[in-house]
Amino acid sequence: DQGLEPCQANYAVQSPVDFLERTASVYPDQPSIIHGAIRYTWAETGERCRRLASALAGRGIGRGDTVAVMLPNIPAMIECHFGVPMAGAVLNSLNVRQDAPAIAYMLEHSETRVVIADREYGEVIRQAVARLKQKPLLIEVDDPEYGEGEPVSELDYEAFLLEGDPQAEWSFPPDEWDAISLNYTSGTTGNPKGVVYHHRGAFMQALGNQTAWSMGMHPVYLWTLPMFHCNGWCFPWTITAMAGTHICLRRVDPEKVLQLIRAHQVTHLCGAPIVLNALLNASAEAKAELRHEVNALTGGAAPPAQLIQGIEEMGVRVTHAYGLTEVYGLVTLCAWKPEWDGLPLDQRARLKARQGVRYQTLAGTMVADPRTLKPVPKDGKTLGEIFLRGNTVMKGYLKNPEATADAFRGGWFHTGDLAVWHKDGYMEIRDRLKDIIISGGENISTIEVEDALYKHPAVLEAAVVAGPDERWGEIPCAFVTLKPDSDDVTEDEIIAFCRQHLAIFKVPGKVVFTRLPKTSTGKIRKFMLRNQAKEMQ
Ligand code: ADP
Repeated sequence: DQGLEPCQANYAVQSPVDFLERTASVYPDQPSIIHGAIRYTWAETGERCRRLASALAGRGIGRGDTVAVMLPNIPAMIECHFGVPMAGAVLNSLNVRQDAPAIAYMLEHSETRVVIADREYGEVIRQAVARLKQKPLLIEVDDPEYGEGEPVSELDYEAFLLEGDPQAEWSFPPDEWDAISLNYTSGTTGNPKGVVYHHRGAFMQALGNQTAWSMGMHPVYLWTLPMFHCNGWCFPWTITAMAGTHICLRRVDPEKVLQLIRAHQVTHLCGAPIVLNALLNASAEAKAELRHEVNALTGGAAPPAQLIQGIEEMGVRVTHAYGLTEVYGLVTLCAWKPEWDGLPLDQRARLKARQGVRYQTLAGTMVADPRTLKPVPKDGKTLGEIFLRGNTVMKGYLKNPEATADAFRGGWFHTGDLAVWHKDGYMEIRDRLKDIIISGGENISTIEVEDALYKHPAVLEAAVVAGPDERWGEIPCAFVTLKPDSDDVTEDEIIAFCRQHLAIFKVPGKVVFTRLPKTSTGKIRKFMLRNQAKEMQ
């Protein structure tokens, strides 16, 4: 290139916030957000976000300040994904199921200056703020779809927006590696860690979602995934880039989800497998054949092949992806190949249950020995840890250099997930490093045992953990929730069923019928079940 250097124009900052500017000017009259009776156009959403940014600036909020939100999937939550970074500030999305001490920790640790909270979480927020020395400015969102409870604050979100200028110019961050958001991991042990995302990573991830999912313009997107989780896998930015319509939803109720899918001709939705499982188990009436194309992106936990098959039988096209909070949501997917189209549905579902290959926007993935970082052979058998690298990997953990250095040892991000690498380069997760069962020296994948349990027609939900065993060290212990009309099924029947589907050493030694404890994102709390399995001995 004759010694050419990138010019100044090449260094323009890439931020997902800019998607809003473009969409609001190109498609001003298209619907942006629908929430119950509320409907906005992209021109209106553009103005509301500019008002928010300018109102925050008017209160002295600027580059690097933290603004926390404790909101369900409502319009204000989408607006905060733009208005807060437009002010140069960092969006700290609080998990709405956390208790006051945990929230207080996150507010204090992140030095949050403003909290925008829905009235539903008023009590928790008040208690959390009471514990803080530095009191943040508290702004309440009074959502008409909720309409109960005591006010959180005298300052109402709508009144706050009126403090701002709807035409305010927003200035790009001087540096695209500036933080855009902060997401605390659920922290099953110790204090939660604050995962920092930057503008560039969020920009790339938003477009990576679109490319990986082959999403066309103007999707109608239903918010079944909590936006407080990894910024809704960056979909507030993706859907805005594609000038789609965000359909809001305060709470996932399968009947309501199916009703909204029909009412708004929803084309796309995301959710953990547990959300899809709830749809699959909705009433026959609610599930009646969907007449338009619906695409579901699932990840966050391993979807059993049986579940993928069931959902596809409902007429919903499933895409399976994998990722974690530290990588902006999802970064690998089971990229589909046309030659698989002709296979029987159960085989297609088996293939699709694999976590697959990297998004186009991720630089690298490998399955490797965690000590040497040497890649394992692509033999579909040798276990290794999944490693990731690229621009869509977090900047690091806030104020936690030890944990950050540990996560990036050897120049790769360590996921803590164990997988095999198939001949075709597709990864398949066998377990989390901390969940895998070691029985008489053999590894047992809890995911494989769960997959077998889900094949049983009476099983609604299943989770498998290690139970202590004198002879084998550990054995699989299954916790199962039965479908409502199947509660006469016995432990022996389930064990006998597993014998038909699994090698004998993988068959659960014990089956407990119970409700499964879950996290706010619908993941099963395996550590609680492990403790329970220990106590049962
Ligand atoms: P946590 O569950 O630790 O609070 P995350 O939401 O970031 O945090 O969860 C990421 C973890 O979820 C991954 O490390 C992996 O164990 C699991 N996971 C995510 N997607 C998948 C998938 N498609 N298949 C299997 N496991 C998955």
